[in-house]
Amino acid sequence: MGAEHPLVRKDYEKLAELYNYISMCTHCSNCKYLYEYGAKENFAAIGCPQGDKFKLDSYFGSRAKSSLARGLLKDKLQFTDSVMHAVFTCTTCGACQQMCETDFKPAIMRTIEALRAEAWRFGKVPEAIKRWSNHIKVERNPYMEKHSDRLNWLPNSVKESLPKKATYVYFVGCTASYRQKQIALATVNIFKALGVDFTVAQDEWCCGSPLFRTGQWELAKEFAEHNATLLDRYGAEGFITSCAGCYKALKKDYQEGLPEGYKDKLGINFEAKVLHSTQVIAEMIRKGEVEFKGKFEKVVTYHDPCHLGRHCEVYEDPREVLKAIPGLKFVEMPRNRKFSFCCGAGGGVRAAFPEYSLETAAKRVAEAEETGAEILTSTCPFCYRNLSDAITLAGSKMKMMDVTEILSEVLKK
Ligand code: SF4
Ligand code: SF4
Repeated sequence: MGAEHPLVRKDYEKLAELYNYISMCTHCSNCKYLYEYGAKENFAAIGCPQGDKFKLDSYFGSRAKSSLARGLLKDKLQFTDSVMHAVFTCTTCGACQQMCETDFKPAIMRTIEALRAEAWRFGKVPEAIKRWSNHIKVERNPYMEKHSDRLNWLPNSVKESLPKKATYVYFVGCTASYRQKQIALATVNIFKALGVDFTVAQDEWCCGSPLFRTGQWELAKEFAEHNATLLDRYGAEGFITSCAGCYKALKKDYQEGLPEGYKDKLGINFEAKVLHSTQVIAEMIRKGEVEFKGKFEKVVTYHDPCHLGRHCEVYEDPREVLKAIPGLKFVEMPRNRKFSFCCGAGGGVRAAFPEYSLETAAKRVAEAEETGAEILTSTCPFCYRNLSDAITLAGSKMKMMDVTEILSEVLKK
């Protein structure tokens, strides 16, 4: 779309395709805030972490992204360092897309990624993103780790007990494989306790989410095609993941067409069931198949990961799991579900702008503290990482736990 416009620069190929969507932005500024029309207190708060930090209109919400895109396409703007900063400090949280009511809405996330795709041509990409992008091509993870160490989190006794064929492949993801290993272990222990028919792949690669989000679509396709082969290798009908970023990549980016996913655009040949671990567990709880051995007598609040919540609309399953746990008292933060506030880590921001990333996480931790909860929980190892680092830096008394960690404490083995 849009390439036929005479005033649009054709060399910005990926942006030019979206020109007709981009030009639908009316500059109304709804995307700066989270409005809950009709709610008792007509709740409104800043939704864009990028705008909240940098304040300027050139950073705030999808309005800013449409302006940047139009400026570049109409040759009124060059890809300078300032433009790079405004393009790469977006966490791709989707709060702006949630609030937009125009025909630009379905193409907003793609426009953000297209701006980044164009940035690569000019070398206007933060050095940290270039570094992990070079590493991921060789070692299949963005953490500067060896691919051969990917399964080091898995105890040998469990590894040996995993079947060669199973209904599901547990897609662990890079963060739980190399950093938040306790989430991978808790997930495996829960699946074993509940009798889920699963295995863990020997040759899983990064899901490609960091590549999709930073505009490296063609490279991401190679990762999608490799991971798709894992299902045949294990005779599985689908993936279960415990990561919000992996969930969106496997379910949406691999399997949906334009303008949100990449299937049509890149010719990804993949079709399969994809579940988040909390969806599997919530379903078993609904069927009465989960027995608890004890109580978790703590006050808990839940952070919706942007890529599981707003991007994929999985809001209730994690809450159902938490509310079923004996003794647990559940409280909501004011910004929850589609009005959630980002943890600050996504879209390459944690690697490229760690201070701003942690500042955003600290805002979310402060909001969690105000609920009176002792435990902040989530369903994403990447959110876990940023929020737990912010808890430590702030000297907060809160404790970060993944939903799987809480559950594994009270599950009957
Ligand atoms: S992106 Fe949507 S909500 Fe934001 S200014 Fe444009 S039309 Fe309004
Ligand atoms: S995706 Fe999130 S961080 Fe990026 S512009 Fe939209 S609201 Fe702001």
